[in-house]
Amino acid sequence: MRLESYGAPLRLEEIERPETGRGVLVRVEAAGVCHTDIHIVSGSYDLGDGNLLRMAERGIQLPITPGHEMAGRLADLGGFTEASLREGDPVVVYPWLGCGTCRKCTAGYENLCEGKPASLGIFRDGGYAEYVWVPHPRYLVPRGNLEVARSAPLACSGLTSFSALKKCALNGDDLLVIVGAGGLGTIAVQLAKRTTGAKVLVLDVSPSKLELASELGADQTIDTSGRARRDVISEIKQANGGRGADAVLDFVGNPSTSTMGFEMLTKQGRLVLVGLFGGAASFPLPLFPLRGAQILGSFTGTLTELSELVGVAATGAVTTFVSAEYPLEDANDVLRRLERGEVMGRAVLRP
Ligand SMILES: [Zn+2]
Ligand SMILES: [Zn+2]
Repeated sequence: MRLESYGAPLRLEEIERPETGRGVLVRVEAAGVCHTDIHIVSGSYDLGDGNLLRMAERGIQLPITPGHEMAGRLADLGGFTEASLREGDPVVVYPWLGCGTCRKCTAGYENLCEGKPASLGIFRDGGYAEYVWVPHPRYLVPRGNLEVARSAPLACSGLTSFSALKKCALNGDDLLVIVGAGGLGTIAVQLAKRTTGAKVLVLDVSPSKLELASELGADQTIDTSGRARRDVISEIKQANGGRGADAVLDFVGNPSTSTMGFEMLTKQGRLVLVGLFGGAASFPLPLFPLRGAQILGSFTGTLTELSELVGVAATGAVTTFVSAEYPLEDANDVLRRLERGEVMGRAVLRP
């Protein structure tokens, strides 16, 4: 399913199976549909105040095959011989490739490449296809017996939640507030409950999504639809002995959620911004020093973190919630439903 011009629907096309060249081929068996794909198809991010970050300015060239949450089997090892992988092995693909030579890439942060990023499904062809070309076998994480549809979302929504949660630096009796119980929020709830001792409170505007968050282990949920910010914050403090949140994971990232997230922080609180809904916000500057507060951004995660996460998932401690699987040609329909907020957990294409 190819994107030929921004704003237009993806088109099902027959193209040649890629040559391995200096790389390997993976037969894609599952590709998660991510919010980022909506931005890629529409062609921009909203930066607020009428400013747009355009995909074309980020160096994305069309046509491109979207899809960065990929799991499948190694189909062709190309010329690589030193790899521990064999053809047919079940893998998750790490899609957040960088230039490989800048300071960030050489330090292991390819997802934050300062040079020319080469992420699969964004700058290079991705997983809305039967095969994906990957430049080196080190980007393939063995997934053992993990089911293919459930392991695909680990590459973006899982990894993003995992890396963002680490930045919260939670201690035993901390309160973590998760804003948004979609694909990322549902994974963050499980990871927070299984890997930290923190109390987890989830905010969303959808009762069914909050119900799912509770089933997955959230200690408390609040439906924020139609409620004043001040009310929600006082309910949170009431539930936490008068104290605010030690960390807030904002998986929405709009002006209203980010300002509310900042306002609910206790001393030394951290607001970790993940969602790319868009817009701009203002924060009262004296509160940063007075409260020792921090705002951090978190974008995807590293290859090391993905290996670690796949290891955690393999123990059964966390499962991605895949609500439905669709044939590849339903990509446009699934993207529309995701945009309308109708997808519970993750929807996955099965090329
Ligand atoms: Zn994504
Ligand atoms: Zn780089």
